[in-house]
Amino acid sequence: MDKSVLFHNLPFLKTAAKTFIHQNLPLDYYLLKGYSFKPYLVVFDMLYACNLSCPFCWQGRTEANKPDGAIKGFLRFNELKLIADKISGFSPRCYLTGGEPLLHPDIISFISYLTAKNLYVSLNTNGVLLHESAESIIKAELTRLIISLDGTKEVQDKLRGESFDRIGQGIEKIIRFKKDSLKSLPSVRINLTLNKDNISDLPDFLKLMKNWGLNELKIQHNMFSTNIDIEKQKNINRNVYESPYMGISYDPEGELLDRGQLKELMERLEELSSKSGIDITYFPLIEKNLIDEYYTYPPSDEKFSKKCLAPWQRVRVLPNAQLSPCLGIEMGNILESDFTDIWNGEKYRKFRNMIRENLFPVCSRCCLKEY
Ligand code: SF4
Ligand code: SF4
Repeated sequence: MDKSVLFHNLPFLKTAAKTFIHQNLPLDYYLLKGYSFKPYLVVFDMLYACNLSCPFCWQGRTEANKPDGAIKGFLRFNELKLIADKISGFSPRCYLTGGEPLLHPDIISFISYLTAKNLYVSLNTNGVLLHESAESIIKAELTRLIISLDGTKEVQDKLRGESFDRIGQGIEKIIRFKKDSLKSLPSVRINLTLNKDNISDLPDFLKLMKNWGLNELKIQHNMFSTNIDIEKQKNINRNVYESPYMGISYDPEGELLDRGQLKELMERLEELSSKSGIDITYFPLIEKNLIDEYYTYPPSDEKFSKKCLAPWQRVRVLPNAQLSPCLGIEMGNILESDFTDIWNGEKYRKFRNMIRENLFPVCSRCCLKEY
């Protein structure tokens, strides 16, 4: 975590304190029978369009996100403002994602609207449009910029299509504008999803980050399930929650990472991290001795926790204004109701009580559950 952000940014301090309490003292999870304190994080799925089509992307594979799928379009600025007004009272961290959120026509205005309310706002982008948006992102006072990038040029272009050069230009521009305008924000982090193709590229990738002047890397372990469980979940979504399915859609049978290579790499990265000063974190956080277990197929929870606090801690706002805990499950339209009426309404409470009893089969390798 960039310490300058911690000490110079009020929204960050507020949300860091709330996040800490939520994560370490989840009294509502244990005591409130499905009711929950307000979430510390509101994720806005700004839209599901994207200017890349990464083959591994769950968003691209999800029925709801296809052009003829259940959720099309996006919320307009006046609707986004109404939602921001409804949630700003409890000062959540706001996380803007997609699809590719920079494709939303009002993204910069929305960031400005949220930051003017003193909220912590992070934006997760694939970086392709960063070059065009760099100056306006900084002027909008974005708190945190998260760029999804999976490796050096050869690897990134192979995995996600030709995009590396554009992203590199965007990163350089952001760093330059920050420096020229003497701004410490946004802090910049790279998110990289581990897979067979980028695992051996990581040491070179750290050098590249160093050259750019970036010092935060989050390495994401792959989320996966089996096709059988994904189909079961689609039925649950449809029949129990009358919702389209959006979530883990990757069945990696026979494609999983070489676990020996991964463990070696993690050890090497520890050294490289302390030498280079690049802060490396993993998501989800898996103990090294449980890496083998995490990457077994089919996934099982035998050695892991069966607990997920996410439905008590975070909420998604879908592009159709539905609030959702996860997996595209729709709880109610935030434009038509009060936030609390949905958040602690009967449907949400039932969902939380059910999750406390038993997770869904697709939850086994969800990055949001406890491990
Ligand atoms: S850039 Fe992100 S949202 Fe777009 S296809 Fe790739 S992984 Fe999916
Ligand atoms: S683990 Fe939690 S957040 Fe993930 S799909 Fe299951 S209930 Fe939802």
